[in-house]
Amino acid sequence: MFAKILIANRGEIACRVIRTAQKLGIRTVAVFSDADSDAMHVHMADEAVYLGPSPSRESYLVGERVLEAALKTGAEAIHPGYGFLSENADFCRQCETHNIVFIGPPIPAIEAMGSKSAAKTIMEKAGVPLVPGYHGEDQSRDLLKQAADDMGYPVLLKACAGGGGKGMRQVWKESEFDEALNAAKRESLSSFGDDDMLVEKYLTQPRHVEIQVFCDQHGNAVHIFERDCSVQRRHQKVIEEAPAPGMDPALREAMGDAAIRAAQAINYEGAGTVEFLLDVDGSFYFMEMNTRLQVEHPVSEMISGQDLVEWQLRVAAGENLPLSQDQLHINGHAFEARIYAEDPDQDFLPASGQLSFLQAPTASPHVRVDTGVRQGDEVSIFYDPMIAKLIVWDEDRDKALSRLTKALSEYRISGMTTNIDFLYNLASSAPFREAQLDTGFIEKHHSVIFHDDAQDYERDLPLAALYLVLKQAQRAEEKAMASGDPSSPWHQSNAWRLNEPHVHHFELQLHDRVFPIAVAQINTGGSTRYTISIGELEVDAQGNLSGSELHADIDGYQSRATVSIHDDTFSLYTLDRALNFKMVQADLGESDQGDAGGGLVAPMNGTVVALLADKGQRVEKDTPLLVMEAMKMEHTIRAPADGEVSEFYYQAGELVDGGAELLSFNADE
Ligand code: ADP
Repeated sequence: MFAKILIANRGEIACRVIRTAQKLGIRTVAVFSDADSDAMHVHMADEAVYLGPSPSRESYLVGERVLEAALKTGAEAIHPGYGFLSENADFCRQCETHNIVFIGPPIPAIEAMGSKSAAKTIMEKAGVPLVPGYHGEDQSRDLLKQAADDMGYPVLLKACAGGGGKGMRQVWKESEFDEALNAAKRESLSSFGDDDMLVEKYLTQPRHVEIQVFCDQHGNAVHIFERDCSVQRRHQKVIEEAPAPGMDPALREAMGDAAIRAAQAINYEGAGTVEFLLDVDGSFYFMEMNTRLQVEHPVSEMISGQDLVEWQLRVAAGENLPLSQDQLHINGHAFEARIYAEDPDQDFLPASGQLSFLQAPTASPHVRVDTGVRQGDEVSIFYDPMIAKLIVWDEDRDKALSRLTKALSEYRISGMTTNIDFLYNLASSAPFREAQLDTGFIEKHHSVIFHDDAQDYERDLPLAALYLVLKQAQRAEEKAMASGDPSSPWHQSNAWRLNEPHVHHFELQLHDRVFPIAVAQINTGGSTRYTISIGELEVDAQGNLSGSELHADIDGYQSRATVSIHDDTFSLYTLDRALNFKMVQADLGESDQGDAGGGLVAPMNGTVVALLADKGQRVEKDTPLLVMEAMKMEHTIRAPADGEVSEFYYQAGELVDGGAELLSFNADE
């Protein structure tokens, strides 16, 4: 086994690898950029080497610097994590030249899977089922079009060099073919410097099911079962689980065998993932093979009881696979939810900022949190905005899902918008509970997950109002206890008056609506009841608050909720949903709900990608005006009303701070 390894990565995966190395008594070397000089992975490692400025292409992606760091510190091997240099064959070659072990597959295996079309050709020969389609070398428009016409629409055009969902276009009918082909080629050329395309039958309700494989240098190969990663947004995974719901042993064996065949076809070594689309009729098709450890590997670890990073290190050091196929068993069910700094209500716009408060659920055999940040750390604009991975395990899917929603309701983060409430709503929705999974899950169940239903307000606003008055009463009581004379009427929170119920007035904001609320407090014989009025709605409520648990009785219906407060917002987690409320201070006056000007500031730190209108041009409401990019995601600024742009303050290519005014807009009267 190695005595010292270097981890060529950052964040949670660097920390994850360091933990296993420490367990095995291996010394660790971290690398870091300017933004990460004080990062968690740097503190965890035995040594750390500076790479360069914050942008990854000047630090984490510079192979020579990483290699220099390994040589300087005497590391025998490099673990690349995922992303960055993990699938970079040139970097592997440099490692080989310097006699440093790359903890990953052999170079030809990485190269073979680098092109989607070449990968499909290899898999076809190995007898692995493919999505019907064309992946040949002749790239003429007529041939591609003929292939699409022959297989029947819808089809999917994919960039051969593609990744991250880029260069991919659905074509629903023949007349849309040319436009889609041109767009996919353009995107592919600008992202990958190559515009070769393949055409696939577009499956309309597939699941994304992938198999974890492992091979050693001695010809042994196993699969460590499957993961279902169907819940995706923008073709990126959101919640993953293992095993895949409804998977019968025969199908598992067939997919496992196909995955091993795929790995052996390219003489694979180490950890790999073979991704399949699983169709409604139980047919499955090879999609691609990722030649590295996946973000979602922890769910496989939880159900197999194995440490996959330990397996990677053992295999790279030349040992045999720790277990054979018949020694591997599935135990229970696991979920992983990716906690991101992003705003689901704004099309998952990435967020950044300082984690002013951070409290994760308590770790236990049921709950695991893989993270690379601590309270006070920055989520910077330079890297992926993932804050943590929340992983839960229990004996079966239902129990594991309860663990997941509970742990999500206990996750407290202040300082930036996160997707926790979105994840909670998704995980507690009926279709997810019933495992109605396919890759269109989020779009299909949008209204359930985002709760844009007016009825929700009637149900949850009184709960939120009750929580606020109970909290206020609790605070007043605490103050009174501290003052030494708790029985004095002057300490009562109800602004004690003779013979008169006290009425509290305040406002609560939910999404973009502000609700004026009145709560009348009625004290009768030692118990307190409230009449809550919200517009036309009036309910009778009582309840109590202990810690973050709210017990409520609203018009005779009893319910419970967990509440988490951050700054002037609080989240209410009921059994089947999470809602984010903002307390609107009375002295702020009428909240300005108009959108004039509001959307014309940069919503995040980032780069201006393109100006889409001319200065002085007349535009209609919602016309795209400017595109910004941050953390690999684009965000479009649109006209707030009919009118004209009188000035752009930035040009394409310029860096902008979040909050900066981007342009001046004159709305029509
Ligand atoms: P990338 O490498 O860009 O991530 P993939 O080929 O892995 O692209 O596909 C990403 C996602 O796109 C899949 O998880 C699936 O949701 C969807 N997808 C890919 N191919 C098809 C297809 N033929 N039919 C339907 N959906 C597909």
